[in-house]
Amino acid sequence: MQAGTTIFEHMSGLARRHGAVNLGQGFPDFGWPDAVLAAGAEAILHGHNQYPPMRGIPELRSAVCEFYARRQGIATTPDQVIVTSGATEALAASIMAVAAPGDEVILFAPAYDAYAPLVRRAGAVPVFVELVPPAWQASAEAIAAAITPRTRAILVNTPHNPTGSIAGAAMLGAIAELAARHDLTIISDEVWEEVIIGTAPHASPLALAADRTIKIGSAGKLLALTGWKVGWVVAEPALAERVAQVHQFLTFTTPPPLQVAVAAGLALPDAYFAATRAQFAAARDRLVAALTAGGWHLLPSAGSYFVMADLAASGVMLADHDFCEAAVRQAGVAAIPLSAFQPDGRPTPFIRLCFAKSDGVLDDGAARLNAARVADWAKEQR
Ligand code: PMP
Ligand code: GLN
Repeated sequence: MQAGTTIFEHMSGLARRHGAVNLGQGFPDFGWPDAVLAAGAEAILHGHNQYPPMRGIPELRSAVCEFYARRQGIATTPDQVIVTSGATEALAASIMAVAAPGDEVILFAPAYDAYAPLVRRAGAVPVFVELVPPAWQASAEAIAAAITPRTRAILVNTPHNPTGSIAGAAMLGAIAELAARHDLTIISDEVWEEVIIGTAPHASPLALAADRTIKIGSAGKLLALTGWKVGWVVAEPALAERVAQVHQFLTFTTPPPLQVAVAAGLALPDAYFAATRAQFAAARDRLVAALTAGGWHLLPSAGSYFVMADLAASGVMLADHDFCEAAVRQAGVAAIPLSAFQPDGRPTPFIRLCFAKSDGVLDDGAARLNAARVADWAKEQR
């Protein structure tokens, strides 16, 4: 079992110690809705402080259904919703609900750092299918080749952390078709469903495979409140019940005043979500423009808070991990190496940058990265 500290904790710790601009761990420094904060404060002061129902308060479970009907055209009922302590708990409960020791779960690499450790904690085996750059998609053939009689689930993440890509219709169609053919569960991590550049609605696998998909959401990303750790799963009632069986002994419940506030947040008008999308697009464009002007080569990003930079194409000779360790100490800017998302941790020439920051932070971070790119230490081959 892998030990050690997550890359996000590690890099944020270094950033604090060295007074660095933190473009590493994904959290915004702007854009949260004040009405939601007020609703949370009200709920604490007015008595929503004892154990709520195990599956979540009715107002939030209804609000989740209404939100998905309005924003994604998906019809669900509250008996399909279980509120969890963040998407992380939703992932743990879902994986443990469908995978037993010796079973296999298909993951796409690069993969969010929690997936493989959670699969292994369940006693199951992660089987990786590579997402192929620059579009970061997997073909039907590649997915089919990874399926064995022990496969129980396919875990997909769209929009995708860390690449910022969105699973296309071909990849989602292949996942739905193969899952039906081999009787697999689709665990669909959609925490970035509203952090999409542009106005297009998010395409959820739940719309393609309603009878076998566990859709995972998080208020952390929807409402820019990453520390709140309020998430949920949505699945057909029997599948939801299997997840609830695990959830009741993982965390049992999630703080009720935050549930009250998140219900209010999900009811915010479409204009709120349109405005935050525009804000993230402007932030991405600002960081990309400043770095491109400084000679950086960046990859396209269509969703999430992240954009990736190609070190080798930008003239940096260090591998991703070495660059990030040096940049936070010597240039005062924190980034995340893509190797942290690779199955074997092998070095890559890519780093992930978080653009969900106010203008001054983006400008300062870009200036420091531009200096790092041409620093003597970045030119040394190790
Ligand atoms: N899945 C993905 C793809 C994420 O990027 C994150 C956090 N950014 C999570 C899950 C965890 O979400 P939460 O903080 O709600 O546990
Ligand atoms: N999900 C956030 C990211 O990718 C951070 C999560 C964490 O710190 N564990 O940056």
